[in-house]
Formats: sequence, structure tokens, C-alpha cells
Amino acid sequence: MSDKSKNDEVEFSFKCPSCDKGQIKILKTTYDVPDGDKMLLIKFECNICNFSNNDVIPLTTNNTPGIMTLKVSNENDLKSKIYRSPVGKLEIPELELFVVPGPNADFYYTNVEGILFRFENAVLIYRKNLEKDDDEIEDIDKILHDLHKAIKGEFKFTLIITDTGGGSYIIPEDESKYSFQKFEHKELN
Ligand SMILES: [Zn+2]
Repeated sequence: MSDKSKNDEVEFSFKCPSCDKGQIKILKTTYDVPDGDKMLLIKFECNICNFSNNDVIPLTTNNTPGIMTLKVSNENDLKSKIYRSPVGKLEIPELELFVVPGPNADFYYTNVEGILFRFENAVLIYRKNLEKDDDEIEDIDKILHDLHKAIKGEFKFTLIITDTGGGSYIIPEDESKYSFQKFEHKELN
């Protein structure tokens, strides 16, 4: 977390759902997103076991449509937080990953690693359903190979969110790897 965030500890309130002994501590952090918006990150943490969970609430709405780009080249970058709005399109060209949200898509919040795990799962299911002699298998195994390296922070790739409505965020661990490009009016239809 950068020096732009501030931690406010609040009251202890509920029993840990994991170990059933600990108290869950709630940590609230206000985070200033690089483009001027604010997000509230809420962290639940058990004081006995390893249980922890995160949630995020946007305090202001990013209404600037544009393209967010994050260059990922190491393990630290995998911890960058991703918040995709229902209209945000997410892609990782080097891994042939494209997520185009449907009409009922929800906001989703995760980190880069979470996206890779989700994708790996989808690719494995897809591969299982192919015939053994399918030509596609070779391509898929290449993607899986790169994906495994990516999960370990050993494969460089670019994560791009194209958001025509605004509302998506990338909160980078390393701000020098993040860039935002506003849409010109002519690109919006
Ligand atoms: Zn616990």
C-alpha cells in the first residue's frame, strides 16, 4: 500500500468463520486511485488463524472512459488490484485472454493473480472437453505453459481494461507500470 493510503482501525465485531475462536478485526483503508478517485478497501482479519478477506467500495465514480494498461513482469505486479465495471473489457493479449462482459455482468474485484487463476481454470475445463487429436490442443498447451510461468511472475504480459462507461480501476503495486489513456470523443459511440 502506498503512502497515499491511510489506515483506520475500527471495532472488533464478529467471530472468525474459519477457526471459530478468533475475533475478526476490520481494517478500513481509503485509497486514492491515480486518476483522482477514492476507493474504500475493507479487510477482514482473524487475530488467531490466517483467515482474511477483502472487499472494496468505490467512494467516487470514475467516469472517465478510457484504456487502462498495466505491464506485469514480476510477482509484485501480480498483487495489483483490478476492479472491472460491468462494461469493462479485460484482455491479456500475450495469453490470448479476453473477457467481454455480458449484459448481466457484475462488478468484480480481484487482483492480477486472481484473474490468472480464474483463466487457468477455464482453459483446463475447455481442454478436457476436446478430442485427443484436436489441433487446438497444441495451442492450448502453449497457453497453459505461459500461464503457469505468469502465475509465478516469470512471464511478461500486459493487462488492458477498455472501459467505455468508466467505473473500472487498476490499482497498481508499481505505479510506473500503469498508464491511462482517455478516449477521444470520436471513439465513443
Ligand atoms: Zn480464525
